[in-house]
Amino acid sequence: MRIDKLLAETGFGSRRTVKRLIKSKQVSVNGEIILEDRINVDPEIQEVRVSGKRVYYQPHAYYMMNKPAGVVSAVEDKENKTVIDLIKSFDKAVGLYPVGRLDKDTEGLLLLTNNGNLGYQLLLPHKHVTKTYEVRVNERVTIEDQKAFEKGIVFHGGITCKPAKLTIVEANDLESRVIVEIKEGKFHQVKKMFLACGKKVTYLKRLTMGPLSIDENLPVGSYRSLTREELEKLT
Ligand code: URA
Repeated sequence: MRIDKLLAETGFGSRRTVKRLIKSKQVSVNGEIILEDRINVDPEIQEVRVSGKRVYYQPHAYYMMNKPAGVVSAVEDKENKTVIDLIKSFDKAVGLYPVGRLDKDTEGLLLLTNNGNLGYQLLLPHKHVTKTYEVRVNERVTIEDQKAFEKGIVFHGGITCKPAKLTIVEANDLESRVIVEIKEGKFHQVKKMFLACGKKVTYLKRLTMGPLSIDENLPVGSYRSLTREELEKLT
């Protein structure tokens, strides 16, 4: 396989980062520093090293889960069932972890991978990865709320959120259904944004995260491998 693909898939960063590693003479094959990122290598036969550290090929696993309410997005938890408990033991063996957190009562899109670097990239605050949520609220969501979201909600306690997009799908005095788009990931962010408007979230489902969208055919509580197209968009 190509050396840049090998290094990108074994956690050394994006193809671009890997090219930089090669240019800066940190990559060797059988003891020889290489400067070309297009060469093919067989990591089982040849000794590939980055900054002296041997690289072994272990393909990464990437799953999309439609998280159900009632499980926590953690690898282990003393009291609660975790999203990892929903994974079959064969798949679990690859050391999966959830990328980012959804609250216990939140449903929807959760990415699980054993590629530490990818997870890290998606979580970096300065990357401003967009996330969208379907939200139900216990009363009428108004144009004023929409404007407040656009301006940047200020939490009780003074923390200010970045401007967010609030789209009202339907609204009446008893319940509203809206879509919220945010570019950050503060703890309980969506719930707190509505709380700052004096409203309570009664249902929350993540629909998208960066370039990934929830597969609406994926039953709640199930997971599937990412398709090649989804993976290409992510990496
Ligand atoms: N915002 C929340 O309040 N909860 C989530 O789980 C995700 C975003």
